Amino acid sequence: MTSNKSITEPFADRLLDWWAKHGRHDLPWQQPRTPYRVWVSEIMLQQTRVEAVTDYFERFINTFPDLQALATAEIDQVLSLWSGLGYYARARNLHAAARILIDEFDGQFPNTVEQLNALPGIGRSTAAAICAQAFDLRAPILDGNVKRVLARHAAIEGWPGQTRVANRLWEEADIRTPEEHAADYTQAIMDLGASLCSRSRPSCSSCPVKADCQARIQQRQHELPTPKPRKTIPERIQAFDILRNEAHQLLMVRRPPSGIWGGLWCLPEAGSLESVSAVQSLAAPEPIRHAFSHFRLELQFHHSLIEAEDLVMNRNLQWRSIEGWLNQGIPRPIRHLLENLQ
Ligand code: SF4
Repeated sequence: MTSNKSITEPFADRLLDWWAKHGRHDLPWQQPRTPYRVWVSEIMLQQTRVEAVTDYFERFINTFPDLQALATAEIDQVLSLWSGLGYYARARNLHAAARILIDEFDGQFPNTVEQLNALPGIGRSTAAAICAQAFDLRAPILDGNVKRVLARHAAIEGWPGQTRVANRLWEEADIRTPEEHAADYTQAIMDLGASLCSRSRPSCSSCPVKADCQARIQQRQHELPTPKPRKTIPERIQAFDILRNEAHQLLMVRRPPSGIWGGLWCLPEAGSLESVSAVQSLAAPEPIRHAFSHFRLELQFHHSLIEAEDLVMNRNLQWRSIEGWLNQGIPRPIRHLLENLQ
């Protein structure tokens, strides 16, 4: 792939020409590119790479082929298909938005950024990406990949999380977005950020917009976009109870809808269940460390066989075999633990 595009050609034309030859045209949500499929893919792609999303997307669409199927599903089923993708608020918002679209929009997707942006889990850039890709309407986007391309191409200083910097990037996004070919342009700029203009090793010699890229001209590709100011990430420790019964089942609780792992099934936090009496202590597994975006958690475990008769099961407290739990929506480190306990 080489490119000698001149700067006399508009940014968008150079990008579209490159994308026609080198872009991704066979992503599962591109065929057919319906609003529902585009929406699901855009939500899955937030914070997650295309390669990690495609299998999840196929499974999700096979189970919930349309809005109606998603809106009438139980949240547990939605979370179980999301299990392992992380950022579970996305799945809860997807489910909530599906219900709103059925109840208030007659099952039709609105085609304005403002209306889409008002739905749960759809920010400004995602709303624009849906408008552009599903309806081919002009709508500038600014996701992580696009921020990187624009911060470099226009040499915009400062961490994009700051409002001042984000506003400058939105201006650049707006100036460059063409009136026509909105869907293809949106995919093209996302693809450029995900491929040639990568975070650590940009391939500038092949880039269709290299001629006027200020970061390349100034040899500052590795400084831009400006990284987030460093903060030490806090560490937390939480102990969990692995409680077994005579039938080799494990006890799990459903976590509250908000907070970490909201709505997922999880081991009870140590000591949180009253009326549980251990009849035998078992060897505890090694602690597991898990990184969230804003803190690190060390999960420690107590392991015991318990007298289960005093416990009353309900929607949020259940016994299941390990295999049974592995089919439910459970957090990634707990899944890892159960696979090792099997
Ligand atoms: S020339 Fe390099 S830094 Fe500039 S947009 Fe292209 S790949 Fe990114």
